Amino acid sequence: MSESAALRDRLEHVRETVASAALAAGRRPEDVTLVAVSKTHGAEAVLTVLGAGQLVFGENRVQEAAGKFPGLRPKHPDLSLHLIGPLQTNKVREALAVADVIETLDRPRLADALAAALGRGDTLPQLLVQVNVGEEPQKAGIAPADADGFIQDCQARFGDRLTGLMCIPPAEGDPARHFAWLADRAARHGLAVVSMGMSGDYATAIRHGATHVRVGTAIFGSRPALAAAT
Ligand SMILES: *Cc1c(COP(=O)(O)O)cnc(C)c1O
Repeated sequence: MSESAALRDRLEHVRETVASAALAAGRRPEDVTLVAVSKTHGAEAVLTVLGAGQLVFGENRVQEAAGKFPGLRPKHPDLSLHLIGPLQTNKVREALAVADVIETLDRPRLADALAAALGRGDTLPQLLVQVNVGEEPQKAGIAPADADGFIQDCQARFGDRLTGLMCIPPAEGDPARHFAWLADRAARHGLAVVSMGMSGDYATAIRHGATHVRVGTAIFGSRPALAAAT
């Protein structure tokens, strides 16, 4: 089987898993958006997946996203790009130019930088607050104890541009309680988007209310070890 046929097969399998997990949870499959995480993978793989009707992508790095996606937009105006990696404040400008959604609003300084961009007249993409649900020192995200205050602050500053919450639970242990916590927190704040679940746990995330799952490896295959850690 060619690599592109294998890719289409894996995409189809992930789509079926998303749909069956949604149905099993009494939810509609169309209420769960699959974000295809294409980081480290080249334009050819992205084109194959686009050709199979996948329009929503995730990238970790602004520069990589800027190299891959703007050229595809004329032909695919419905394409949507989510930034899912840590965003440095000095990259905000570039991020606004390339992203439809920034999933990693993870600290007050970044909120300040986004507010400054808004003040300059820039249009903001959709924003998700990233919560460090496992309180892991190596991970980005607002601490769970500070989440309510930060979310309210962001709602006051960004209004309906703030659409939801995102998390990356600890790699070890059962992610279910973290997923349930995030979905509950989003509901309390009237936020519609809950981005959680990756290749290893997206079905679990859907059972707990994910509206967006971010799946890389299960679609595109494995990444080089170094890049995978970022
Ligand atoms: C890389 C990455 C993913 C995708 O991970 P897979 O395990 O390859 O599906 C999802 N979310 C974030 C934030 C990532 O950095």
